[in-house]
Amino acid sequence: MVAVSGGKDSVTLLHILAKIEKAFPDVAMCVGTVDEGVRDYRDEALKIAEDNCRKLGIEHRVLSFKELFGYGLDEIVELTRKRGESGLTPCSYCGVLRRKALNTLARKAGVDKLVIAHSLDDETQTMLLNIVHGDPMRIARSKPVLDVIHPKFVRRVKPLCMVPEREIVFYAYLKKIQFQSIPCPYAQTALRNDIRTMLNRMEHKHAGTLFTIFNSIEKIRPALEASVAEVTLKECRLCGEPTVGDLCRACQLLQELGVV
Ligand code: SF4
Ligand code: ZN
Repeated sequence: MVAVSGGKDSVTLLHILAKIEKAFPDVAMCVGTVDEGVRDYRDEALKIAEDNCRKLGIEHRVLSFKELFGYGLDEIVELTRKRGESGLTPCSYCGVLRRKALNTLARKAGVDKLVIAHSLDDETQTMLLNIVHGDPMRIARSKPVLDVIHPKFVRRVKPLCMVPEREIVFYAYLKKIQFQSIPCPYAQTALRNDIRTMLNRMEHKHAGTLFTIFNSIEKIRPALEASVAEVTLKECRLCGEPTVGDLCRACQLLQELGVV
């Protein structure tokens, strides 16, 4: 399953994989899209994802936050505003809930790989974000081909993790690939945005910075992995998904909002 949001990275990856797949008749491919419930923005992206799947003749599955959690992201943001400052941005909710929704979608489809279109830019931003958040050991768990640490997790792979975003955009324009170009209305609130601006400035001034950061992390990854204690996952008390504690992070967030 290719996770397609409708944005340039995921739609471009879908086109490349659809082309490669023709040489592998034993492989079956489908597309999964999570509808977070962001009015107008996600509606347009869903249509673009659908149109691309139709053109390529690939099965498209959609799962919405509303269906899975009972609330769309706009409603969650509204709830957090009513309840006062939670300290979390819309992206904090969105990231956790989308990760769970994508895994559920992939597992229900019975696939053995979930392909994520994270670019080199996304990967380096995530690495720095983990450091800024004070959680550097998380870097050990977030890698190009993820380990499967529980049978309910579908293995995530990120084939574009060493491709700079500007090359993806260039390819998309050359191939006249249709993708969504308007940004999510909540994107400005994310810390990732500041990290992106900083890294873009560095890359512009010192070409190769993104690759250097990515390669440096890959060099220290074995040491990080060796020092991370092995975790035993149990099943979330509320939803049954794998988790370290009593509740998975998604249920924790929804419980704090008083909706589960
Ligand atoms: Fe979700 Fe934030 Fe991305 Fe919008 S920018 S889709 S809220 S993670
Ligand atoms: Zn849960």
